Amino acid sequence: MYIVPEKYRVYFNFAIKKLPQLKDVDIEVIEGKEYTTMACRPDIWKLLIWKRKYNIHVSLPWSTFLTFDQLPEKAKYGIFAHELCHAVDYESCWIRWFINLWISYLTKKGKQKLEEKVDKLTIELGFWRELLELVTFQMISWPAPEKYKKFKKDHYLNPHDIERLVLEYEKKQKENMT
Ligand SMILES: [Zn+2]
Repeated sequence: MYIVPEKYRVYFNFAIKKLPQLKDVDIEVIEGKEYTTMACRPDIWKLLIWKRKYNIHVSLPWSTFLTFDQLPEKAKYGIFAHELCHAVDYESCWIRWFINLWISYLTKKGKQKLEEKVDKLTIELGFWRELLELVTFQMISWPAPEKYKKFKKDHYLNPHDIERLVLEYEKKQKENMT
């Protein structure tokens, strides 16, 4: 079951339609206090009763640098695709994440590796245009505070990395076809 406030539904639906991997899990979009614009986390309480549920947290204006509302339209699709791809990633190894994900998330290197993995997945699952739109806005177009720029640079791929990954992916696809 998906619980998504009306305001976010069009962006959520755009991505979820293309992600059959998530058809049997529960997902809830919740507004709240987050350091980043959005975050996707497994619901630990549900896991205790062997149910898989993911909460996608959308940050409200007073707790983050960049809010969802500030994003350009196309980037809003990109951020939902990216967050749902976190859920796809958790799903592919949902026992393993329990053991090592929280540990890796606590370190800078671990978080960096995870974000790169999820961005790759976002590209491979067909959302590269929206992702590129998002990252270009976050890292180039938006006049971000220095602290935000540093945080993004330390933990996330930049638009050039994304473009490189798209090219690599397309090359791989072509090789597979021939
Ligand atoms: Zn992420």
